[in-house]
Amino acid sequence: VELRDLLLSRIRDVPDYPQPGVTFKDITPLLADPVAFNALVDALAGLCRRHAATKVVGLEARGFILAAPAAARAHLGFVPVRKAGKLPGETLGKTYDLEYGTAEIEVQTDAFAPDDRVLVIDDVLATGGTAEAALDLVRRAGATIAGVAVLLELEFLDGRARLAPALGGAPLEAL
Ligand code: IMP
Repeated sequence: VELRDLLLSRIRDVPDYPQPGVTFKDITPLLADPVAFNALVDALAGLCRRHAATKVVGLEARGFILAAPAAARAHLGFVPVRKAGKLPGETLGKTYDLEYGTAEIEVQTDAFAPDDRVLVIDDVLATGGTAEAALDLVRRAGATIAGVAVLLELEFLDGRARLAPALGGAPLEAL
């Protein structure tokens, strides 16, 4: 409860961003606060251990900011899942639907060993489309899903339900 309150107190609501009618959850105050940021990284590293992850995936771009320090603190390697066209070498891609149009994310084909257990980390779970696509990539790249961890889950969008089939019983943790 203490951690939850600390984290929530450092997330700012920005009305009508990026478009009218949408309230954007801005995590930059949290990132700028050394106590809250450190507590968040600690908690994410703890989830890596609890779910026996062997690698950590971060989702571009804000997911990188959380996943990379969490991976280092848990003494695990970090793997970026990036927007299409940003990763060199052989990649796997997944296209998914946005409210308007589509997006594509990629991972490098050789990112994982067959016995890797992957914790996927992002800042915010909204509709769940991004995390769902990332889980598909991790699985197609040959690794096992240890779980998904996010700072914030927007429960009213029901991303948890959308993500459930892709999780296949693995946990979704929202701090
Ligand atoms: P989803 O695919 O609908 O679950 O959207 C999640 C993705 O959009 C994540 O990568 C988030 O970084 C981003 N996102 C959606 N809503 C917000 C928000 O309110 N604040 C920050 N990021 C958001």
